[in-house]
Amino acid sequence: MHELSIAQNIIEIVQQYVPGAAMADVRSVRVRVGRLSGVVADSLEFSFSAIVAGTALGSARLNIEHVPAICRCEGCKGEFEATEFVFVCPGCGSVNTRLISGSDLQVVDIDLEEAPVQKP
Ligand SMILES: [Zn+2]
Repeated sequence: MHELSIAQNIIEIVQQYVPGAAMADVRSVRVRVGRLSGVVADSLEFSFSAIVAGTALGSARLNIEHVPAICRCEGCKGEFEATEFVFVCPGCGSVNTRLISGSDLQVVDIDLEEAPVQKP
């Protein structure tokens, strides 16, 4: 399962940046998922929860942001949002376009719990 190995990679990234003692303080991991990355967000969340369950990262949640797929046209230098897998420039009709975002996944932020908040 594709998402399972991606979830595993995300956890490895968290482990690189967060010292072991602070693992339990990780509340959320923000990732950007490109529209055309082929990653199914629900499936990724499910995989992540399954892996961290019962570990020090057990209370961490994935916070997924979707990134639109943006293409740049080599003909008129315009940029447009690609839909599906057809990248025809709406400005000039050129098919000489390049996907410049929306095809990958990146971890952008890891939120740790702040100092405990006093609740009434
Ligand atoms: Zn164009």
